[in-house]
Amino acid sequence: MYKNIRNVAKTVYGPGSFNQLDEILSEKRQHATDFMVFIVDNYFKGKELETRIPVSGQDMLFFIDVDPHEPTTQQVDDLRDEILQTKGLPAGVIGIGGGSIMDIAKAVSLMLTNEGSSQRYQGLNLIKKPGVYHVGVPTISGTGAEVSTTAVLTGPEKKLGLKCEWTVFDQIVLDPTLTATVPRNQWFYTGMDTYIHCIESMTGHLKNAYSEAYGYKALELCREVYLGANSGQNPETDEKLMVASLFGGLSLTYSEVGICHALSYGLSYVFGTRHCYANCIIFNQLEDFYPEGVREFKEMVAKHNIYLPQNLSQNWTEEQIEKMVDVSMALNHMWSHAIGPDWKQKISRSQVRELFERM
Ligand code: NAD
Ligand code: ZN
Repeated sequence: MYKNIRNVAKTVYGPGSFNQLDEILSEKRQHATDFMVFIVDNYFKGKELETRIPVSGQDMLFFIDVDPHEPTTQQVDDLRDEILQTKGLPAGVIGIGGGSIMDIAKAVSLMLTNEGSSQRYQGLNLIKKPGVYHVGVPTISGTGAEVSTTAVLTGPEKKLGLKCEWTVFDQIVLDPTLTATVPRNQWFYTGMDTYIHCIESMTGHLKNAYSEAYGYKALELCREVYLGANSGQNPETDEKLMVASLFGGLSLTYSEVGICHALSYGLSYVFGTRHCYANCIIFNQLEDFYPEGVREFKEMVAKHNIYLPQNLSQNWTEEQIEKMVDVSMALNHMWSHAIGPDWKQKISRSQVRELFERM
C-alpha cells in the first residue's frame, strides 16, 4: 500500500506575509461568539511581533516557555482543559513559534474534540475525530513541523506523536522575516534537522522519486544557506531555509527518517535532550551509515564554529544506555527504512549500544 497523505490545505509564503493573518482568520470568525486561541512562543512576549498578533474580542492568548522541556502530554491536556473550562470550543488555534509551539498547537486542536488524555492517542491513527481549525506560523526553520502529519509529545511512557491526517495544519503562514532573531546555535541545530531529514529520507528502502525530488531541492537550499557564498543568517538565506524546511518535511513524509532519528528519540527520552541538538550530536558519529552526509555536515559545523559535545557516554549509567537502546529499537519503521525489513538480522542490540557509546 502506498501512503495516502493529507497536505496542508492553504499556504501563504513570503516576507511580511504574517500581516495577512488577520484577514485569513476573519473568514473563520463567523459568529459574534467565535474566538481564537493563540499559542505563542514566550520569546515574543513584549517584542514587536506581539503587537502584530491579530487578537480581538474574546480571543485567548497564551505565551509558552518552550525551554524547560519539549512538549508533553500533560501540558497539552492542561491547556485544553483551561480553554474548554473558561470559554468552550474555539473557532481556531494558531501556533506561532518553532517546532515545539507548532506541535502544541496541533495537539491542542485535536484534543479539544477528543476525550481523555493525549497520552491515549500517542501513535498512528488513534485520534477519533477531526480537531478544530488550526494554523501554523513557524518562527524557526528546520523541523518541518509546519507540514508534517504528527504532533510529537513526550508522555509518561513514551515520546511519540499524535499522528493522523487531522494533525496537519489547515493553514500555514511562512514569513521568513520572523526567523531573523533566532540565536545562531539554534539556527544551526534546527536547520540541520531538515538537512538530516533529507539525507535519511533519501538513503533507505522507502526512498522514491517523490521524496527525492523534494529532498534534492531542500539539500541544495541547505548547502546555499550553510556553505554558499552568502551563507549565514540574512534575509536571503532565511527565505531559503524556510522553503528547505518545508521541502525536507515533504521529503520525509513520503519516505521515512532513519538511524539518526531512531537514536535521537532514545537520547531525548532519557535525558530530555532537545530534538535538533540531539540529532546533531548523533549525526556527527554516523559516518558508517551516511558517509557523504556526515562529511558535509562536519564541513558546516566547522564553517559556523558550532560546538558539539563528544564523549558524553562516559557519564551515562548502564541503565540509561539500556533504556536508550530500548526506546530506539522500538522505532521499527525507521530501522526498517534505513537497513531493510530484516534489520533485526543485520544490526544487533549490542551494535546499537555501541552507537550510543560513540557519543
Ligand atoms: P523550539 O520550538 O523548541 O524552540 C527553540 C528555541 O528557539 C526556544 O528557546 C525558542 O524560544 C526560541 N525561538 C523560537 N523562535 C524564535 C525566534 N524567531 N527568535 C528567537 N528565538 C526563537 O525549536 P525547534 O527546533 O523548531 O523545535 C523542536 C521541537 O520540534 C521538538 O520538540 C521536536 O520534538 C519537534 N519536532 C517536531 C516535528 C514534527 O514533525 N512534528 C519534527 C521535528 C521536530
Ligand atoms: Zn527531525
